[in-house]
Amino acid sequence: MAIAVVTGVHVAALAVLSQWLFSWTGVVLAAVGVYVFGTLGINACFHRLLSHRSYKCPLWFEHLLAVLGVCCLQKTPGQFVATHRAHHQYSDEDGDPHSPLISFFWGHMGWVFVENPQFSNAATYDNYARDIFRDPFYLRLERNVLWLWLYVTQAVLFYLVGFGIGWLGPEGSLTAGVQFGLSLLVWGVFLRTVLVWHITWSVNSIGHVWGYRNYETRDQSRNSLLIGLISNGDGWHNNHHADQRAAAHGHKWWEPDVTYLTLMGLQLCGLVWDLVPVGTSQSPHENLPMKPTKQIPSRPPSETLRKKAG
Ligand SMILES: [Zn+2]
Ligand SMILES: [Zn+2]
Repeated sequence: MAIAVVTGVHVAALAVLSQWLFSWTGVVLAAVGVYVFGTLGINACFHRLLSHRSYKCPLWFEHLLAVLGVCCLQKTPGQFVATHRAHHQYSDEDGDPHSPLISFFWGHMGWVFVENPQFSNAATYDNYARDIFRDPFYLRLERNVLWLWLYVTQAVLFYLVGFGIGWLGPEGSLTAGVQFGLSLLVWGVFLRTVLVWHITWSVNSIGHVWGYRNYETRDQSRNSLLIGLISNGDGWHNNHHADQRAAAHGHKWWEPDVTYLTLMGLQLCGLVWDLVPVGTSQSPHENLPMKPTKQIPSRPPSETLRKKAG
C-alpha cells in the first residue's frame, strides 16, 4: 500500500507542470506549507518533541503540531517515533530501519515500501513509543487509519477553498472554480507533500553519507550544508546524533537552525519552555520513555548491511 500511496502522490504532484494548473497562490502555499507542515509538524513536533522530548509545551499545542505532522503523510506520531528511536539506537547497524549503508535508495525511500513485520507490531511499538501510545489522542489516530483520513480531509479542504474563491470571485465561473481548486490541491498539498517527504528522507540518506562531522559518533551521521538549509535545521544530523535531546541541532554559528529559532520564538510567546540546551544530556536517551528489548533485523537482509558497513 505504501508504494501505491507514495507513487500516486508523486504522479499527482507532476500536475504542477500543467500551465492550466499554475497559480502564484499555489506556489506560495507550497513554500509556506513546507514550513508549516514540515518544519512545525515533522521537525518541531514528530522529531524534536515526540521522539526526543527536547522541550515542553501544553498538550493541546502538542496535539495541534502533531496534526500538522500527520498532514505530511509520514504515518502516525507513534509509528514515526518508534521507527526514529530504533534508528538512534542502532544507527547504521543491524536493526537500523533506514541506514543508507544498505543502499542509498534504501536509506532514502526504499525502506518506506517494505513492511517489516518484525518491527511493525504492537509489542515493538510499545517498547519504543509507550509514552506516545498511552495518549488517547495518538491512539485514536491509529484506529481505522484516522491519520490517513486526516490527510484526505485537509486535501479536500484545500480544493474546496480554492474552488469557492475561483467560483465566487469577481470574474468567477464554475471552470475558474475547478481550475483554482485543483491548483491549490496540486501545489499546496501534493507538491508540498513530496517536498517534505524528500527533505525528511534526505536527512536519513544524505545525512548519513555526505557532509562533515563535528563529533566522533559511533554512526556515520554527517552535517550537510545543503540539507541543513533546506530542512530548516534537521540536516545538522551529526550534531543531533551526538546530542540527541538538545533542542538546537545547529551547534556552530554557520549552522542555521530555523526550527530552533522557531522554538525560541514560541518560547517568547510562552507556548514552549524548558528547551534542552546543547551539552547537558547525560546520555542520548536520558529520560526517554523507551524500552527497546531486542534488536530487530533490518530489511533487506542484515548481512548486506554488515558487509557494506564493514
Ligand atoms: Zn532524532
Ligand atoms: Zn540519523
